[in-house]
Amino acid sequence: MAIRPLIAGNWKMNGLRAGAEALAGGIAQRVRDGGEIHCDLLVCPPFLHIQAVSGALGGASIALGAQDCHMEEAGAHTGDVSAAMLKDAGCSHVIVGHSERRADHGESDALVRAKAAAAHKAGLVAIICIGETLAERDAGITLQIVEAQLRGSIPEGADAVNTIVAYEPVWAIGTGRTPTLEQVVEVHDHIRGLLSGLAGEGEAVRILYGGSMNPGNAADLLAIGNVNGGLVGGASLKADDFWSIADSAV
Ligand code: PEP
Repeated sequence: MAIRPLIAGNWKMNGLRAGAEALAGGIAQRVRDGGEIHCDLLVCPPFLHIQAVSGALGGASIALGAQDCHMEEAGAHTGDVSAAMLKDAGCSHVIVGHSERRADHGESDALVRAKAAAAHKAGLVAIICIGETLAERDAGITLQIVEAQLRGSIPEGADAVNTIVAYEPVWAIGTGRTPTLEQVVEVHDHIRGLLSGLAGEGEAVRILYGGSMNPGNAADLLAIGNVNGGLVGGASLKADDFWSIADSAV
């Protein structure tokens, strides 16, 4: 079955409000200009810019997401943001389990799973990130690592509507290095096989590729059968590059 691709921008901890508004406005302008693309678009700014970006998108059909949420609905969790707050601010999606959060904040699969469940409860689509380190790839255990992360991070009740999986090799993030197309095919096919037992309508769950996707390599990556879009970091910070990647989706 054909899955409409999603190109998602992860802006990480970049930019002040004016820059975020300009970036969102630039992407929205391209949508309004009627540029024909064959994918859905999502931008995930830092928490603090979500409302400003919402305004700058100005109703253009670009979804808004966040980069993390807390697993609890409310309470004494200083500095955290709940999934319900994100929903209330206009978000439809939230990234959970990004490798930078797993590394910087020691997030485990169990925590990622709880965050994804919280996202679902609040009515958000959870983008669950998984991926191996370079040492794991070199040790030849990529598929085992990715499988264990997926099994550990995907909550009960996940399905093709409320869940997206992003395969992001840690060593490809922000490095300019990407796996070979054959390596991407191998991992995405493995994830697809697992999803039939782990999620409702597993054959329709989007599987994004992330890791140094750019206008030069996007077409080849997005042409792979089980690559249903991209999670884009650095290249999502320039409207032209983000749009060019979106334009590569078929
Ligand atoms: C990411 O952080 O999700 C990512 C894919 O980053 P980059 O595109 O910069 O490698």
